Amino acid sequence: MSVEVAIVGAAGRMGRELCRAALETEGIVLTGGVVGPGAPEAGRDLGELCGWGRAGVAASEEPPEGAEVLVEFTSPEATVGHLRYGKPHVIGTTGLSEEQLARVEEAAKSVPVVIAPNMSVGVNLLREVVRELAAKLAGYDVEIVEAHHRGKKDAPSGTALLLARAAAEGRGRELEELAVYGREGVAPRSEGEIGVHAVRGGSVVGEHRLTFYGLGEEVELVHRALSRRTFADGALRAALFVAGAEPGLYSMRDVLESGASG
Ligand code: NAD
Repeated sequence: MSVEVAIVGAAGRMGRELCRAALETEGIVLTGGVVGPGAPEAGRDLGELCGWGRAGVAASEEPPEGAEVLVEFTSPEATVGHLRYGKPHVIGTTGLSEEQLARVEEAAKSVPVVIAPNMSVGVNLLREVVRELAAKLAGYDVEIVEAHHRGKKDAPSGTALLLARAAAEGRGRELEELAVYGREGVAPRSEGEIGVHAVRGGSVVGEHRLTFYGLGEEVELVHRALSRRTFADGALRAALFVAGAEPGLYSMRDVLESGASG
């Protein structure tokens, strides 16, 4: 059995990586690629667009009728707009507001939706480790530093927020009560604070460093994405999962626990 997938945001950094991964992944058929309104890439061959070679599928401004699943890495506004297609949806886009997330939740009442700010296996396992360490290293100060390429729009990254939320959960608290985003001026640390800091530059794919600072020791966890392929492979696993899922809102944890492999 194979799943016909349309990549939404096909001309972007992640979109191109996804087109290539889809062409190379068993069980996935690349059936379309959606580009933004008026984008110069419309009509171009998706395989050529991602440097794979001719695929015989053209980029377009609307997903093809036959697409069974949309895999989307665009902007928050575009992502929410594409819920109108009512198709099973894998959302990798980050930076959605509370209101935009509520619209995704509403859509997930009638179609299955996977939303994850990081599709890599490593980060999703790290989240579990962070939750456990935060509980056990109760008095330690938590600081997160993330670095990304100069083109990234949202800050801090969705992944930094995911890890910060895991640390807050481990402490039995809400992230909103504990998070401090950057510091300047007179800014002493208050108890339980979770510091989150964003660095932007060059071509960094994504690095997250979370440190538990004790008085006599430090425990440091680092995740480095070496290629966007790791996110693309995770997103295609999610596509295989969502194609057979009941309506509802799912996370990467659900995908990984289901054993779906792309
Ligand atoms: P990018 O700017 O390179 O690509 C986004 C693309 O979406 C652009 O080509 C843009 O033209 C296109 N787009 C905008 N509106 C559109 C529309 N209405 N229809 C179709 N295409 C449209 O950005 P990127 O680096 O590829 O990242 C995209 C998103 O994915 C960001 O939110 C980023 O944070 C996120 N991301 C998530 C993960 C993850 O694992 N979940 C990993 C990497 C990036």
